[in-house]
Amino acid sequence: MTSPRLEIDLAVITANAKVLTSQLHRHGISVTGVTKATLGSPEIARAMIAGGVTQLADSRVENLMALKESGIRVPLTLLRSPTPKQVPAALACATTLVITDPDVVMAIDQAAGMRGPVANVILMAEFGDLREGLMPDDLIAIATRIRRLAHVRLAGIAINLACFSGVIPNHAVMDKFLHLVNDVERIMRYPLRTISGGNSASLTWAQTEPTPHRVNDLRLGESLLLGVDPLTRQPIAGLGTDAFTLVATVIESAMKPTHSWGSTAQGSFGITAHDSTHTQSTSVRTVVNVGVQDIDPADITAPQGMRIMGASSDHLVLETPHRLTAGTEIRFGVGYGSLLRSMTSPFVAERLRLPYTAPSRLEGAGSRQAAIGQSG
Ligand SMILES: *Cc1c(COP(=O)(O)O)cnc(C)c1O
Repeated sequence: MTSPRLEIDLAVITANAKVLTSQLHRHGISVTGVTKATLGSPEIARAMIAGGVTQLADSRVENLMALKESGIRVPLTLLRSPTPKQVPAALACATTLVITDPDVVMAIDQAAGMRGPVANVILMAEFGDLREGLMPDDLIAIATRIRRLAHVRLAGIAINLACFSGVIPNHAVMDKFLHLVNDVERIMRYPLRTISGGNSASLTWAQTEPTPHRVNDLRLGESLLLGVDPLTRQPIAGLGTDAFTLVATVIESAMKPTHSWGSTAQGSFGITAHDSTHTQSTSVRTVVNVGVQDIDPADITAPQGMRIMGASSDHLVLETPHRLTAGTEIRFGVGYGSLLRSMTSPFVAERLRLPYTAPSRLEGAGSRQAAIGQSG
């Protein structure tokens, strides 16, 4: 078996999707599964669909293309605006495009006119997170303009928070968003199909909001895949957090001084490695065959007793309780940053555990257990 590799337990993803879709169904909200952290993996997308996800979304045209070419037939939304040049390719694979700029709307009108059918767009509103989105007044101006376009249909409005500045989707901001939805519907003179209330960070709002509201969609990636709330990175009750396990192999393990020596400047990524917490003058340093190209050393969980000291592009350095034989496999839990990198690194193989093969695996879900594996 090759290493490094990412072991993917599809049953955990399906189980997470079942829990979230049924909880949100009670609040009138359907789930759009977001696949961008998995390079648009059709297998993972199918695991989400098996759990009740009815639509998929990704930020990259190439990933949506891969989903479509794999034969997936649920509606696909492009989450990040295409460039004007990418619009024809985007229209060829996406059912709906999320847009935040008037020039792109005009490019869509032109391209859709040549293709024939009307293009569905969702306008993303800016409510303080300052990544992407139209300021409310600008959004109303574009909605007004879309009314006069022959080939663009306004299918919905969306909000996206907690992705860039960590702005929390609370009652106050969601209330303002819903007022904007009403204003836009008054202009369009028809009810919008999609009122998308945000990403995984909106789950707490959606499940605790006491007043009736019109949000009918959430776009969920991290919560479905990793079972955690992105606002706190804490596990969400009832969800499995161990769908993904990164397995890397020991290539060096030796007793060394606990502190670097010689005169020091910056390391290869502008940061110096963690200092050892050992009081002794020596400890065992173990190197495994992944690096910053494959994982984020700040977003990976080592087995109990091991400590991550840092990483360069291709070496991850651990402090381990004792010397490990070269070839020993170590299993790590991954956070979103490490998931994204390991799924996109050409050096990390993927090994799928197919759904429904071993139901007993689900019993331990939620613990994000990492352990030393078999050597091999
Ligand atoms: C990535 C992304 C999501 C999914 O976010 P998660 O925190 O992974 O649930 C939703 N909406 C947009 C616009 C995104 O870019």
